[in-house]
Amino acid sequence: MNRTFDSTSRQLLEAASFAARAHDGQYRKDGETPYASHPFRVCLIVRDVFGFDDPRMLITALLHDVIEDTTTDFDDVSEAFGPEIATWVSFLTKDKRLQEDYRERAYLANLMQAPWQVQICKLADIVDNLTDLTRAPAQKRSRTLHRAEQYYAQLQHIAAPEATGPIEIVRKLIDELRQRD
Ligand code: ZN
Repeated sequence: MNRTFDSTSRQLLEAASFAARAHDGQYRKDGETPYASHPFRVCLIVRDVFGFDDPRMLITALLHDVIEDTTTDFDDVSEAFGPEIATWVSFLTKDKRLQEDYRERAYLANLMQAPWQVQICKLADIVDNLTDLTRAPAQKRSRTLHRAEQYYAQLQHIAAPEATGPIEIVRKLIDELRQRD
């Protein structure tokens, strides 16, 4: 664990506030949990479930949905957290101008080219979306599970040895949920 309270650690705290402000007024699929709980949980999964303490990964986890789902753009993130974090977040951002099938394919292809640290953040995003499923309506549940399987089909091929543990956690979670269906 990183025990120094350096500027990067301060940026991590700032990223939590930044994400909460950006997602203000948005809710999770249950319609009552504030959306910001999701990036906070993804950050906790990266650190406490997957065991990574690289502040850049934790900051990226906190910010991973701000470009896609809020009025925040690449330049806003770059200005506040630097170009590397902004680039990592952009790897986790879907291009909403594209038709859905094509958008998903482009997103995944892009993600497979991303640094492994970003790929780990995506695996944490999947873990949270799957863990959160019990609170979602049935139709959204099967859609989320289906999408997680599509992502898993690609992400299981991540070459970095660091991803082995997280990939296994996602696989077990999908198996568990499939059996329950
Ligand atoms: Zn997310």
